Amino acid sequence: MRMNPTNDCPERAVNSTLLRLLPKVDDCIHTLQQQEILAEVSFKSLTRLIRLYIDQVRQDILRGVELSSGDMEQERFISRMIDFILHKQRVRFRRVINCTGVIIHTNLGRSILPKQTMDALYYAGGRYSNLEFDLDTGERGSRYSLVEELLCELTGAEAALVVNNNAAAVLIVLETLAKGKEVIVSRGQLVEIGGSFRIPDIMSRSGADLVEVGATNRTHLRDYENAISENTGLLLKVHCSNYRIIGFTKEVDNQELVTLGRQRDIPVVEDLGSGCLVDLSRFGLMKEPTVQEVVASGVDVVTFSGDKLLGGPQAGIIVGRKKIIDTIKKNPLNRALRIDKFTLSGLESILRLYRDEPTALETIPSLAMIAAPVEVVDKRARRLLRRLRRDMKEQCRISIVDSTSRVGGGAMPEQNVPSRSIALEPVHLSVNELERALRKQEIAVIGRIEDDRLLLDMRTVLDDELALIHKSLLQIFS
Ligand SMILES: *Cc1c(COP(=O)(O)O)cnc(C)c1O
Repeated sequence: MRMNPTNDCPERAVNSTLLRLLPKVDDCIHTLQQQEILAEVSFKSLTRLIRLYIDQVRQDILRGVELSSGDMEQERFISRMIDFILHKQRVRFRRVINCTGVIIHTNLGRSILPKQTMDALYYAGGRYSNLEFDLDTGERGSRYSLVEELLCELTGAEAALVVNNNAAAVLIVLETLAKGKEVIVSRGQLVEIGGSFRIPDIMSRSGADLVEVGATNRTHLRDYENAISENTGLLLKVHCSNYRIIGFTKEVDNQELVTLGRQRDIPVVEDLGSGCLVDLSRFGLMKEPTVQEVVASGVDVVTFSGDKLLGGPQAGIIVGRKKIIDTIKKNPLNRALRIDKFTLSGLESILRLYRDEPTALETIPSLAMIAAPVEVVDKRARRLLRRLRRDMKEQCRISIVDSTSRVGGGAMPEQNVPSRSIALEPVHLSVNELERALRKQEIAVIGRIEDDRLLLDMRTVLDDELALIHKSLLQIFS
C-alpha cells in the first residue's frame, strides 16, 4: 500500500459530502425570484449567474478550499449567492474618487474633462452632427478639418492631424516617413511608457530600423552625423517622460538637430509624450518646452497626447509641416487609427479653452489641479476634517498632514507638488481594511497608505466630492 503522508482519503470524503450539499439550480431560482433586491435581474441572467456561482463553489470544493458544512447551510449559501449576483450585476466601468494626489493618473482615467466639454459630448453622442459634412458647401467634409485650424492656431504649426492616441501617432508617423528606412534615436531616449509601449517595439512594428546613437547618458551631434546614411528616413527625438538621466549628461538640442536635418534633407520628429500648451514652470514645476516652442524650434513633426498635460480626451495629436502631414493623412493606417466623434468634440472643446490661457488654467481640471495654490487644497482638507471629526472622532484618529502630489501621466516624474492630505488612523479596523472598505464603496474612494495611515490627498479631489467621502466613511464606521 502506498503511504500517503497527507492521507487524502478523509478529505475526499469531506469533498463528496460537501458536493452533495450543493443546491440544485432550479431550487435556487425559485428562492431568488422571490427576493425583492433581485427584482431587476432577468430570469435568463439569474439562471446563468446561479449556475456560475454553484459551479464556482464546486470548483472551490474540488480544489480543497476550506469550506464547512455550515457554509453549505441554506440561508448562508443563498445570502452569499445574492451578494455574488449583485456584484456581477453592478456596472463595471465606474466612477471613483481620486485621493491619490496623482493628477494625471493613468489607472484612474488620466485627465477628467471640464463641464463645457461634457456638454459637447452629450450632444455629440445623443444627436446627429456634422462629423463629416461640410455645412458651408453641403458636401462631404473631413472630420479632422474641425480641429486642424485650432491646432495650427494654438501651436503655430502649418498642419495637424489627430489619431486615437499618441502611441498611434508615433506609429503612423514612423510608418509613413521611415518604413524600410533607418531612424536615428539617442540611446538615452529609448523609453518604455506604461502599458508596454516601447519606442524600439513601435519602431519595428512600423517597419523602420532603429539606429541607436550615443551613450545612455550622453549623445552628441556628431553621433547623429556619423550615423546618417543614404537610408536614413528621419531623426527622432523622444521625450523621456517617466525617467530622468541625471549627472554627467548631454542631449543634442533641437536647433542643432534641425540644422543637421535641413542640411541632409532628413525630417526631424519629436515625440513629446505629454505635450503642453501652457508653460507650467510658474507653478513651481520644472521648465518643459511647450508644443509651440518645439514647433518654433523648427522640428518638422511633433506628436503628443490629448489626455496627459493637455487635459483633454484620449487622442494622439500630430502637428507639423503641411507637406509631411498631408502624406501622413493619406496613409491607409490613418483610417484604422481614426478618432471617433466623442474625441473630436471633446478635443475641440478643450482646444477652444486654450485660446485664453487664464480660462484654460481655471477650467481644465488637470491644469487647475496643478495650478491650485496649496492654501486652496488646505482649505478643502479643513472642510472635510471638520465634518469627519464631528461624526467619527471615536472610530478614527483624523488629522491633516503635508503631502506631495504628482503630475503623473508619465510627465515630470520627480516633480513633487506640495499638497495636503487627510490622514486616517482607524481605531477598530486595520488601515488596510479601511483602504479596502473605501475601495469597495459604490463610488470607490482611492487613497494611499503611508506610515500606517490612510492618506486622502485633497489636491485631486473636487469640492463636490467631499460629501461623498464623508458619507462613505460614515457608512464604514457606523
Ligand atoms: C505617454 C507617451 C506615449 C504614449 O501616449 P498615449 O497617448 O498614452 O498613447 C508615447 N510617447 C511618450 C514619450 C509618452 O510619454
